[in-house]
Amino acid sequence: MTDPNPVAHRLTELIAKSGPVSVATFMEIALADPDGGYYMTRDPLGAAGDFTTAPEISQMFGELIGLWCADTWQRLGAPDAFALIEFGPGRGTLMADALRAMATVPACRAAARVQLVETSPVLRDAQAAALSGADPTWHDTLPASDGMPTIVIANEFLDALPVRQFVKSGGRWRERLVTTGPAGRFAFILGDDEPDVPEAPRLLEVALDGEILETSPAIASVVGNISARIAADGGVALIIDYGHPHSAVGDTLQAVRRHRPVDPLDAPGTADLTAHVDFARVASTSASTGLRSWGPVTQGAFLAQLGIHARADALRAGADTRQERDIDAALARLIGPAEMGTLFKVLALSEQWIDRLAGFDPGP
Ligand code: SAH
Repeated sequence: MTDPNPVAHRLTELIAKSGPVSVATFMEIALADPDGGYYMTRDPLGAAGDFTTAPEISQMFGELIGLWCADTWQRLGAPDAFALIEFGPGRGTLMADALRAMATVPACRAAARVQLVETSPVLRDAQAAALSGADPTWHDTLPASDGMPTIVIANEFLDALPVRQFVKSGGRWRERLVTTGPAGRFAFILGDDEPDVPEAPRLLEVALDGEILETSPAIASVVGNISARIAADGGVALIIDYGHPHSAVGDTLQAVRRHRPVDPLDAPGTADLTAHVDFARVASTSASTGLRSWGPVTQGAFLAQLGIHARADALRAGADTRQERDIDAALARLIGPAEMGTLFKVLALSEQWIDRLAGFDPGP
């Protein structure tokens, strides 16, 4: 009998044919398989879905990013046309809110050419509905350069890219692989060969036996491409995600279904799979193309500097009691230290000559 879960079926066949797969291959197939991959088959966002993101919590998030874009556009010399590229735009909510706020600087709004990097057909439809007036174009990967300066936005995108995992075992790194276990379930297993783990020698020294190191060739490739583009055409990238400011060991692979953590190997394709972003490595990847990095700062500090309190006050002024409560709750979720305010970090990448970016001023 064939497995009714096409992703599990494909993985089982692949493992039977060529042996255990890397965690990265498992993630890649679970998330992006054209037949049953998690993002290919559903809109995962919001209360009725599996997880909720900052732009879905409140319009304030996208609006402040829109104002950040307008400020950045001015710092870039107010070009007549610029590429405004969003990676993984979800339902298009962040971009719709950002463009509305950006229109307070009409020349900036008029200069923005909206390009969306999205692989999910379901979410492309949602983005088309949310952005019908914005004339966006869609791309599977970073669109080819047309010479325009570029502003890149990526909120909760890098965490969806596959990671490889390595386990310290007997003084060396062995890759953590996925195989099929009893009753066709998936299980972790250690690979035999000592793999090439380029950036890991220092961490190998400090890691304890059994500890896990993650690397993401996919993140290195995307960040490398974005950085090369900015180095050539000018611009700034803004990356927001959960993760750690310094490289460290730790297993951050996690799966979420219906807003609850579940076993990452259970029923692949039916739960969101993510890993924390190593911001130090993102910055060093970008530095190797000559860019300057900003932060990471916490999402709470970033949004506070951009004026989220004033924006909340303005919204409260026209609100009834229930709406006021919603605004307060959204503010607490976005910037509260126990919620998204501290775990989420904001990193920017720019050309070297840029000497200030909104949201990255040193604290008092
Ligand atoms: N930024 C949105 C959505 C985050 S969910 C928000 O904040 O609400 C992750 C997004 O990245 C989804 O739109 C998903 O379809 C997209 N995505 C995941 N992997 C991708 C890939 N490899 N290439 C392009 N888009 C991808």
